Amino acid sequence: MEIIKSKSKLAEYLHDESRLSGNAEYLVFARTAADIQEAVNYCLEHQLVLTIQGSRTGITGGSVPESGMILNLEKMNKITGIRKDTKGNYYLRCEPGLKLVELREVLNKRQYDTSIWVADDKVVWREFSRLGRYIFPPDPTESSASLGGMASCNASGARSYKYGAMRQWISQVKTINPQKPAQRIKPSEYQINLPDKDVKNAAGYYLREDSRDFDIYIGAEGTLAVITELEIKLISKPAHCWGVLQFFASESAAMDFCEGLKLLKYQASAIEYFDHNALMLLRGNRQLWQSLPDLQDNWKFAVYYEFEGDDAEILENAVFAAGDLAEEFGSQESDCWFVDTESGVEQLKEFRHAVPEAINKELDKIRMIDPRISKISTDLAVPAGCLGNILKLHRQAQEQGWRIIVFGHIGNDHLHTNILPSDYESWLAGKELVKSWAEAAVKLGGSVSGEHGIGKIKRDLLELMYGPEGLALFKNIKLQFDPQWLLNRGNIIERERVPGD
Ligand SMILES: Cc1cc2nc3c(=O)[nH]c(=O)nc-3n(C[C@H](O)[C@H](O)[C@H](O)COP(=O)(O)OP(=O)(O)OC[C@H]3O[C@@H](n4cnc5c(N)ncnc54)[C@H](O)[C@@H]3O)c2cc1C
Repeated sequence: MEIIKSKSKLAEYLHDESRLSGNAEYLVFARTAADIQEAVNYCLEHQLVLTIQGSRTGITGGSVPESGMILNLEKMNKITGIRKDTKGNYYLRCEPGLKLVELREVLNKRQYDTSIWVADDKVVWREFSRLGRYIFPPDPTESSASLGGMASCNASGARSYKYGAMRQWISQVKTINPQKPAQRIKPSEYQINLPDKDVKNAAGYYLREDSRDFDIYIGAEGTLAVITELEIKLISKPAHCWGVLQFFASESAAMDFCEGLKLLKYQASAIEYFDHNALMLLRGNRQLWQSLPDLQDNWKFAVYYEFEGDDAEILENAVFAAGDLAEEFGSQESDCWFVDTESGVEQLKEFRHAVPEAINKELDKIRMIDPRISKISTDLAVPAGCLGNILKLHRQAQEQGWRIIVFGHIGNDHLHTNILPSDYESWLAGKELVKSWAEAAVKLGGSVSGEHGIGKIKRDLLELMYGPEGLALFKNIKLQFDPQWLLNRGNIIERERVPGD
């Protein structure tokens, strides 16, 4: 295990996309599970905090170290095998550092060096590579994310409207643990108020009755173990995927259109929302989405939706039905961009991806004034029909002069609202504002995190959701896996703030 101590090299690895910055003394790039074991042993022996990193695209400071050693997994990016089950489904075994973009490339080309695989897997791969194309559905917008990071946050993204979150696509997980609890965590033994099953939730440990042995590690944000390998499920790629970006003149028209879209006979695979300020920001950052035409001045709000399937005629009917619906809310055929090719869908995704990128650029400008400022972005998910209550709070804040940008997964009643502060004082006030929105979401039966997790910057929100009893329960679970509290210290809960060991 090579331990890097160079300050300049370490500096690159002290932050993630939240713009939070931390401290560490050592940096290790693991290449094998044995390297991970060695790093864990070293930290246990020397009482060092160990912080795990995938691709550092997280936006809650989860991979930002508080101190000690950074264990970076970006070099563990191999596919180690394939399995076919009795129903004919295919599963890939992957190392945790494999990036989504790398996985997609392998699936597109169906070419991979399998020379080190076991013989049975080579046979399955030969068969698989001759079949039509397969996909891995989770799609958290940022395709440089690693599978280990995605599993640890239970990431989801636009297509979770149809396909659900990462958890549903993981069939097995291997871990290296500081300590394995004496008994398997049995969710039935833990009393905790969870949001309704239909509400997206990535806040705190997974304690549902349907939990499989390894489910506790998914969404645990690296606080219980290091994920060293994942087995993921693939599905056959639908023959067609069509995308529409439909523009509206008002918030209510866009919102009502989304509600109608959910009721259409043919289910969309994604329904995404962009508010007026998101479109304004994109107008000012044209270089981030060069391949598309200009936005018209009268386009104030937008909804992106996708239909996919094998029958083009059915899809055509679905697109026409959605078009008729849009007209009811004042948006005509000329007020949309329609694409029916893979490259077209990619261009619209580029447009979607440009929103958080443009926000981060703005944030970097603000951080020049004061580097203590980090990202303020909500990840609130609420039960169906409750989003209007949250949007009303946003409008009130805008009327008070707050600079707010709203976009995200409206299909799942799950939006990302970003506050751009003007200075450190307004950053502090912005955090309080978000807390009040989170309180409102929890009262409605929602979650303070639908997909990004809690990390280091949303711990106070977790308490709003589960109360001191819930935090004490999480602390108890953490201590069973990591009694010395060394793994990813600072994520989800702070030991000192929760009474009782
Ligand atoms: C522009 C942009 C758009 C985004 N859009 C979405 C979106 O739509 N949906 C969504 O869900 N997320 C989104 N994200 C957030 C981010 O991409 C996801 O959270 C992603 O899952 C993080 O993966 P990563 O490899 O970068 O993990 P990291 O940031 O490196 O780590 C995330 C957490 O996982 C832990 N971890 C990483 N690997 C392991 C492992 N092997 N074992 C145990 N713990 C581990 C880390 O310690 C940390 O706590 C977006 C981010 C950006 C920058």
